[in-house]
Amino acid sequence: MTSPFPRDARTARDLLAQIHALPLDGKVRVMNVCGGHERSITMAGLRGALPPNIELIPGPGCPVCVCPEEDVHAAIQLALRPDVTLVTFGDMLRVPANVPKTEPRSLEQARAAGGDVRPVASPAEALTIARDNPGREVVFFAAGFETTTAPVVAMLAGDLPPNLSVLLSARLTWPAVAMLLDSEEAGFDALIAPGHVATVMGPEEWGFVVDKHGLPTAIAGFETDSILRALLSVLRQRLEGRVFLDNCYTGVVRPGGNPTARALMDRTLDVVDANWRGIGVIPASGFALGADLAAHETVQRFGLDLNAARKRAGQMPPGCDCARVVLGKVYPDQCALYGRACTPRTPIGPCMVSDEGACRIWWSSGVRE
Ligand code: SF4
Repeated sequence: MTSPFPRDARTARDLLAQIHALPLDGKVRVMNVCGGHERSITMAGLRGALPPNIELIPGPGCPVCVCPEEDVHAAIQLALRPDVTLVTFGDMLRVPANVPKTEPRSLEQARAAGGDVRPVASPAEALTIARDNPGREVVFFAAGFETTTAPVVAMLAGDLPPNLSVLLSARLTWPAVAMLLDSEEAGFDALIAPGHVATVMGPEEWGFVVDKHGLPTAIAGFETDSILRALLSVLRQRLEGRVFLDNCYTGVVRPGGNPTARALMDRTLDVVDANWRGIGVIPASGFALGADLAAHETVQRFGLDLNAARKRAGQMPPGCDCARVVLGKVYPDQCALYGRACTPRTPIGPCMVSDEGACRIWWSSGVRE
């Protein structure tokens, strides 16, 4: 885990100079998993600053984008019930479900139709809303990856009011990358792994990319120099033929991750096969509330049939290429709707809704065709 490469470059300018000086032979495709990484890369204009043979490919790091349509639809239906208050993180409000135009297609539209929908910034707010409204069913629709799930389990481990339930769309990041690498055409030669996920779960989770697939891998934080340091590492690994997992976010990412958060996750959640919007079911890639929390699990509490809902509609809106954007198969501006029918003001798919969606990031950063 200790990097053999010197950490002598101090600034982004130094790191870029070192990257340009590498005698790379041919194209190198580097996947950056995290939506936060993609935002930093795009906002900083890094793609334009790199040698043209280095390709940075945004990966499956947007939990809102992969939140299954049946969960979004279920949340909308619950929000329309007169006895329910639906609370969720703000970036879920505009995520579209595939429903007829006559029906509310997002939580924002459900609220406009009279539903009690409240955006929250933290699970603690959901808890407060439930305690303040004991006569109402309060449903916390929580979508996110490991970093978002950690505070949710902290809430679940405490005293829960009887009127609070959780519709959990939590996903693990690494199984999506594993699925890509196990497919015939992974589409990348090296990986920049998400630092904040590794902070919680430990860097070891990403060892399979090196051990099983032999690809250079480095863990990065969100700052430009951290991403460039990870990029320099994977390029040098490839060039020098010594592949390893390089932790380039050592100030934050520690071996084993956050043991308290992981113990809480183990205690409160089960790892289950989970549906990813537009992608399908990925084995052992989702979290579900454990049996002890069955009374607070929304699907059971309301007798919802998500399997039936999954068959009801396609996973992505017609014409939306979000699933292939999430998997790094196409860039956002290769979608026929990008910037035409689909913009942040009129989003067609979830990748244009979420702050971590590549389409929204690219459009907001001024990337035009
Ligand atoms: Fe989907 Fe819009 Fe992105 Fe196209 S531009 S992939 S329609 S979110």
